[in-house]
Amino acid sequence: MRSAQAAIGIDLGGTNCRAALVTSAGRTGDVLKVATRMADGYSGFLATLAELCGRLLDDSRARGMRVSAVGMGAPGIISREGRVRVSPNLPELNGQDLAADLADRLDLPTVVINDANAICWGEALFGAGRSFSSFLTVTLGTGVGGGLVLDRRIWAGADGAAGEIGHLTVVPEGRPCGCGNRGCLEQYASARGIVLAVLERLAAGQKSSLAELAAADLTSLEVAAAARSGDALALAVFAEAGRALGQALAGVANLLNLDGAVVTGGASESFDLMLPLVSEEIRQRAFEVSGRRLQIVRGELGDDAGILGAAGMVLN
Ligand SMILES: [Zn+2]
Repeated sequence: MRSAQAAIGIDLGGTNCRAALVTSAGRTGDVLKVATRMADGYSGFLATLAELCGRLLDDSRARGMRVSAVGMGAPGIISREGRVRVSPNLPELNGQDLAADLADRLDLPTVVINDANAICWGEALFGAGRSFSSFLTVTLGTGVGGGLVLDRRIWAGADGAAGEIGHLTVVPEGRPCGCGNRGCLEQYASARGIVLAVLERLAAGQKSSLAELAAADLTSLEVAAAARSGDALALAVFAEAGRALGQALAGVANLLNLDGAVVTGGASESFDLMLPLVSEEIRQRAFEVSGRRLQIVRGELGDDAGILGAAGMVLN
């Protein structure tokens, strides 16, 4: 009997590295997790990754499966060959041939793509993007990430830097952004942007139940809870975030006439608070045909999306 074919999918984050076996039917078995440690340098990091993959390879053999390749999503700008051009959160990886080095260690074909693109491809193959030919993922977390699928292929751009919807300008002279620009969408629609907006309004003397919280305890979840109980300041902040996201999506709809936008990420739990303003901005700003076409849906895969998409890059 031919053994079932699987791939290892890895989601490399700044804090944790998570990995699992994936078949064409989806994830099989548990997600294994190790801390992303750079204390022992790049070679120590590679050894940790190889050990993590070794555990999954043992598991695959015990279950009569054959692992044919490894796919990894990593933060930063990744070349077509899987070299890390620049990774702001993991600078130890800058310039490293991550795909080739891991392939050498494991003796398996290895592909490395940008982590947001991995999430996008996961939703394309297994989640909310299955029925879309062309769509965008918007990942609302600490920042705002993005990935783009055009005609059922990831569009990574000439340098692997495409899809960064979080860094479209929505306020020309707005808050400074880590990317060097001002007024990026990320500064308004991310969890951090929402907290910043609350702090600015409180500092300006606006009243809110959130004023009772210490600034350090203020999270976007607290702001969402306040909004749900009718707090006017919290509602205004989510409306502002929704308007910013809707303006960006209206421009994307006009440029690309996509089938859909898939909203994912930890902070997307509060997306319902933004959606009315997102829809309103798209209705007002996008061409009618493009705005009507753009279906806005929530992601379906949660934390599994990156693992599934990375593995999906190497599964036939
Ligand atoms: Zn930016």
